[in-house]
Amino acid sequence: MDDFVYWKLTRDGGFSTKSAYSLLVRQSVVSIVSTPAPDQWWKSFWGLPLLPRFKLFCWKLLHDALPLLATLFSKGLPVDPVCTFCCLDLETTSHLFRDCPFIRILWNSTLLSLNGTLPESTSFTEWVVSVVSYFRRSKDLVSLTSFVSLLWAIWIVRNGCVFRQAIWSPSLFHHLSQDWTDRVVQAQEFHRHLTSLARSSPNPCQELVPLCLQGKLSDPLDHCLVFYGAWLSHDNCTGTGWIVRGVTSDTILGGGARVCRVSNALQAELQACLWGLRLALRRGFLSLLIYKDCAPLVSLFRLSGTFDISCLWLLREIQELLPQFSVCHLCKVPRNWVAPAHWLAVGARDRRFLCWSF
Ligand SMILES: [Zn+2]
Repeated sequence: MDDFVYWKLTRDGGFSTKSAYSLLVRQSVVSIVSTPAPDQWWKSFWGLPLLPRFKLFCWKLLHDALPLLATLFSKGLPVDPVCTFCCLDLETTSHLFRDCPFIRILWNSTLLSLNGTLPESTSFTEWVVSVVSYFRRSKDLVSLTSFVSLLWAIWIVRNGCVFRQAIWSPSLFHHLSQDWTDRVVQAQEFHRHLTSLARSSPNPCQELVPLCLQGKLSDPLDHCLVFYGAWLSHDNCTGTGWIVRGVTSDTILGGGARVCRVSNALQAELQACLWGLRLALRRGFLSLLIYKDCAPLVSLFRLSGTFDISCLWLLREIQELLPQFSVCHLCKVPRNWVAPAHWLAVGARDRRFLCWSF
């Protein structure tokens, strides 16, 4: 006998809107997530080293704020409220993310030690809260990330099925989840490496004479920008990197890296400078000391010498940004002072990150 799908709420196994609606009313499935997580738990949750998009996703998940089919149906929208994966039950939060027979197989096949339980009797919120708390207490951040990544992967695969009629398979969930876990772990390692590079770079030296690009030389400076353009002459492939930190501390406050193509080394430096300044403006770092190891670039800002027209265009873009700063000084420094930006730029040039902002 062939396998077939049947709707368990009608005698003939066929789906009917009436039967689904009566179940929704009976079970109040929209609030099936049940008891909210305690405020204290949320407080520690926001402090976890997870991607911001994962945190927001979990918040929506535990507040029934995702546009699930059963939720939309209960609000009168003309959608089929049945689970996309099994077609056996309504697509509610607890069903889609835990109790669906296909999703249970996924959870049971992960290498995650979910405390040995996947209980149906526990509410969905209690389950998520207990798993996250367990990994947090045991300081197992990789498992915590894998857990949230799998929830996220379920949502991504489900959206592909609902909106693009995409084909899904169990390996697709695991592949997506592993991909996100790897990215987060890489980001954490990257941050650690960058912080150690920043620590090894010297702090500002008052003896260096800066060039005043904006404000007065006597104005106080709060933040420091370092940038680097790594250009390859044979194919013009260029990596750019930039970092902003406190002027008297090692703490990195933001930065980025990006691949581009330019026609010379100076242009690469200017491009990195432009993107670094834009980041500083976006974050409100308006009192800025720029450290640069490249003498030709400092000469360019002094407008001494002859330069390629493409460099002058970029310089003009930079100069148009400068009035938005309250103060901006440029200082020529040794190469090792810009080490974190150099590391980022080389990483981008070697395609380890194509476009990164943090
Ligand atoms: Zn299902």
